[in-house]
Amino acid sequence: MITDLVQIKRLGEQKRPENERFRKHLKSHGFVERNFRAKAEEIEAEIDCTVCANCCRNATVKLQDRDVEKLAKYLRIKPAQFLRDYTQEDEEQGTVLKFEEGKGGCVFLDGNDCTVYDARPQICVDFPHLVRGNGTIPFRMWQFIDRATYCPIVYNALEAYKEMTGFKR
Ligand code: SF4
Ligand code: SF4
Repeated sequence: MITDLVQIKRLGEQKRPENERFRKHLKSHGFVERNFRAKAEEIEAEIDCTVCANCCRNATVKLQDRDVEKLAKYLRIKPAQFLRDYTQEDEEQGTVLKFEEGKGGCVFLDGNDCTVYDARPQICVDFPHLVRGNGTIPFRMWQFIDRATYCPIVYNALEAYKEMTGFKR
């Protein structure tokens, strides 16, 4: 299992073309979805996200209305103030948490700690969406190619899936 973030970045980028081929391989064959989810669960159990927090530095967080309400309540402020102080508009995703690319990442990240952990958005609870996520993993593979460049769970899961499905590298 590789968890070093420098290696994950290097290998994830190096394997982008291979992972694109793997995506086609998954889509053109029939595989049992629950086996993918079970393997992802196994990998998640072996990786400590609290010492990683790399998704909080690399991925923007799209907010739903219920996230805004929950976070505003947690911070004891009005939703309008929350939106003003802690969010930004993204051309593709709409309202997202304030994010400093290449710097601290998410506005609520302090070192490796999420300062709103108990009220964090649902997308953060479900990340990286291998165990929890709508739609089959083969049809959501486009998301995982990029995530494999910064998330150890995704990188290791894709490598395990290649073995499980007899993918020729
Ligand atoms: S809200 Fe918390 S868990 Fe979500 S990206 Fe920000 S720091 Fe990470
Ligand atoms: S979900 Fe992935 S990137 Fe985020 S903390 Fe866990 S291992 Fe790291």
